[in-house]
Amino acid sequence: MMGKYIKYRKIIALAAVLGLVAGLAGCAAEQGPAKAVTSDTLCVKKVDSLPEDFFFGVDASSVIAEEASGVVYRDAAGEPKDVFETLAENGVNLIRVRVWNDPYDKDGRGYGGGNNDIEKAAAIGKRATKAGMGLLVDFHYSDFWADPSKQMVPKAWKGMTADEKADAVYAYTKESLEALKKEGVRVAMVQTGNETNGHLAGETKWAGICKLMAASSKAIREVFPDALVCVHFTNPEKSDNMLDYAFRLDYYKIDYDVFGSSYYPYWHGTFDNLAETLSAVAEKYGKKTMVMETSYAFTTEDTDFWSNTIGEGGAAGASYPMTVAGQANFLRDLTDVLVNRTKDAIGVCYWEGTWISVGRESLEANKALWEEHGSGWASSYAKEYDPNDAGKWYGGSAVDNQALFDAGGKPLESLKVFALMKGGNDAPVYADGALDAAVTMMTDDASFELPKTVPVVYSDNTKKDAAVTWEPFDLAAARAKGNADYTIPGKAEGYGVTCALAVREFNFVENDSFEDASAAPWELTVNAGTPSNTHKIGVTAENPKTGQNAYHFWTSDASGVNFDIVQTLQLRASGTYKLTFSVLGGGQGTAAVTASKENVYGYVLTGGEEAARVPVTVTSYSDGYRTYRIDGIRCEAGRPVAIGIHVEIAEANCWGDIDDVMFNYVGE
Ligand code: CA
Repeated sequence: MMGKYIKYRKIIALAAVLGLVAGLAGCAAEQGPAKAVTSDTLCVKKVDSLPEDFFFGVDASSVIAEEASGVVYRDAAGEPKDVFETLAENGVNLIRVRVWNDPYDKDGRGYGGGNNDIEKAAAIGKRATKAGMGLLVDFHYSDFWADPSKQMVPKAWKGMTADEKADAVYAYTKESLEALKKEGVRVAMVQTGNETNGHLAGETKWAGICKLMAASSKAIREVFPDALVCVHFTNPEKSDNMLDYAFRLDYYKIDYDVFGSSYYPYWHGTFDNLAETLSAVAEKYGKKTMVMETSYAFTTEDTDFWSNTIGEGGAAGASYPMTVAGQANFLRDLTDVLVNRTKDAIGVCYWEGTWISVGRESLEANKALWEEHGSGWASSYAKEYDPNDAGKWYGGSAVDNQALFDAGGKPLESLKVFALMKGGNDAPVYADGALDAAVTMMTDDASFELPKTVPVVYSDNTKKDAAVTWEPFDLAAARAKGNADYTIPGKAEGYGVTCALAVREFNFVENDSFEDASAAPWELTVNAGTPSNTHKIGVTAENPKTGQNAYHFWTSDASGVNFDIVQTLQLRASGTYKLTFSVLGGGQGTAAVTASKENVYGYVLTGGEEAARVPVTVTSYSDGYRTYRIDGIRCEAGRPVAIGIHVEIAEANCWGDIDDVMFNYVGE
């Protein structure tokens, strides 16, 4: 694994400049010999072939605002201690910090989220440097949060063309980095934007985006020639998009070293997919790869009165309990995937490991601190810049349960994982939690049962299935109710777990919403009396109830229309079924068709004979779609079943649409 780094002259040069190993040793020398990191409770498997200079980063952007709000970071014994020293002692060698151009309103009040401008980055960078770590500068090129949902242009750059913005990016980047250099900050890496999935600083075309990235890269190279230039995208679960981004950067000849991605396991696909996607970029374009952001919850509890993104049931389908050991094992496994299964991966950076609660007394007290010091995700002052998101939803931290410190400022045991995974750590194994279940029940599945077991996870990340008991739940009632989601609480070996149950009705009708314009496999029979040259019967896009199409009929002839559409169904089991369908219709304009001139109904044929019928009234367009239903249809396995809709209206200018035909199993 080390061998592959030989060809990367820049990495070697960087390691020398940073003096990562020597720097840490030097730092330790000032403070006495570095203590080996050990743990009495964590079982951490060694990550084989872990390079000495692998980057273990922690985004600590919020630290200054947190401290201003009264947060005291402590050591494991509870004594106050510089948070950067604590991070460095536990194997962290890179601090990431986001930078917004001007996160303040016209009266100088901060937008929140740490109020992270270049001055904050310098303050954080100096402390990180002093503790022997490098700095990863994360330019958002916005005045506030930039991510796939928004990349708002900085106030000062509003109205600029892409070329003008590129000049502004160059000047701003150069000036900002020079300020860091003047302060003696060891800048290891710089990002040319944050989660720039298809837009950046208001530019939405790749030609424009790449002009800005090229300008950013140029400034970075000039000020810090030994720093790595990083691009940063997210949603690696959409591999094709990631490869497309890499292709665009190559096409526009962007000068960069590291292709970075966020990886949040709840949303971003499997480890396998992450490794394959990043490896494909490394292989094709000769770039290094890195996870620029990740995190995992150590508890489901909220500590700042501002609800969290991930809580109870949030890890359904995940392999790690939301515990301190689960957080550590997740980080260890992700690192292993990067080191041993991803081509040219150079590091992983934990997102906002220091963003803990500013207080545990009351929401009101915390609100005052978030407003004054910007220690929540957004303050009310952000509304002039970002009225639709921050302006409405400003508040605290939604990730305090994913930090690497507890609510009292003490490092979690899991912070040691960075150091421990280098050699591995043994400790007595204990049961640590049980994993939530997630299942889907189709309403026609008569034999469906809730899971009988769930995996109990041990502190060494091994799993063993254990019996689970769910709170009494009526599957028959859920089946009858149809499409709905339920969360069922349960217990396994004393651990509270949840089962996310999705109930879905299986629809035995094909092309039920007429989205296939051929109408197949519906069969149309035009009956005697329908004039052949003045009608239209078939799929159109005129008035769909759902999707893009519906089944339409119309004629201008006084003799009207007379037709059937029929579909033969393949059922799986004997039982009781129901038919539903919707009809929209009218006469001239909004007037209803005359009832005496219409004979419209839906029906079911079993064994070729009509078994049930529901009358339909074709009313006016303004009434919208009406849904019709036949319940209690008894069907026997092996006996053919067909459904049909008969439309017979003897009136000129009659018309209507049929959509969303469903035939569902109800019960035995
Ligand atoms: Ca919270």
